[in-house]
Amino acid sequence: MKPLLNRITYIRQVNCVLVDEAQFLDPSQIDQLRAITLLWNVPVICYGLRTDFRTNLFPGSKRLMEVADAIEEVKTTCQFCNKKAVFNLKHVNGRADCTGPAVQLGAEEKYFPTCFTCYRGSLKDAGQSVLNWEEMIHLSEKEKEGEDSDVSLDDSTEGESSTEFDRK
Ligand SMILES: [Zn+2]
Repeated sequence: MKPLLNRITYIRQVNCVLVDEAQFLDPSQIDQLRAITLLWNVPVICYGLRTDFRTNLFPGSKRLMEVADAIEEVKTTCQFCNKKAVFNLKHVNGRADCTGPAVQLGAEEKYFPTCFTCYRGSLKDAGQSVLNWEEMIHLSEKEKEGEDSDVSLDDSTEGESSTEFDRK
């Protein structure tokens, strides 16, 4: 990555530096922007996404959060319902997809801001789950089913398995 400082020092007077799509910057470039605030005594304001379509922090966004004076959230609503959007869902050919590289500029893909429910649901419908919590949710649902069958066992007092259980 070329140093940002070298590229913009020809500008004589700068009052403020605005950076869009800051998630695509390298962490070292974020550090250069941090240095600019001291060297030039100007504010630097960055806009960008926090996480990629797999819900992982972009390296640039991570560094930005580590060294920024202030972080302000720009609230967005889910593309599919009216809840607050916290994730970015990727669609490839109209289908939810969480595969492929985190940064793929110029690709024929669409990204939608989504809430957790719609993000998880869309990927589940597409037969995908790369998420750690998918297994947790599945286990929890299984446990719930187990609890329901326990209740029916308790109702029938003559169950062999429940007798065995009581002896232990
Ligand atoms: Zn939603």
